[in-house]
Amino acid sequence: MISMPEWREADTEVHPLWRRTFNQDWTGPDVAAPCPVCGNTGLHRWYLLENARPRKYDGIEFAGRGRLWEWCDSCRTFEHYPDGSVPSWWSAPYGPGIPDPGRTPEAIERARVAAHRRGVQGEPEESSRHAE
Ligand SMILES: [Zn+2]
Repeated sequence: MISMPEWREADTEVHPLWRRTFNQDWTGPDVAAPCPVCGNTGLHRWYLLENARPRKYDGIEFAGRGRLWEWCDSCRTFEHYPDGSVPSWWSAPYGPGIPDPGRTPEAIERARVAAHRRGVQGEPEESSRHAE
């Protein structure tokens, strides 16, 4: 078994770069850029729509209010936003919803890995991520 690092929140030092990295790639559940903390490619986001109320801010359409998780599947740095706006383009991947993920993205990450194993995501092979 490979032991995984504990989940920990992005600290204030890394936060500006973390924000910029996620904001620059705001189109789907995966972010192509390397993690600002560990440099590996494995950044993901997940929205949970809690209060559907479609509206438009600055020309961007939102589906309503909800929560957002952002994380790195390699070093397990994460951010959790308990109250934010869910964009209209969001469509939850990894099969059926995750009813109460909690504060860390643990449950979401597990669903993501399971979906990846089933081939749902169609992601490229993990190659550089797990060095021997
Ligand atoms: Zn990382």
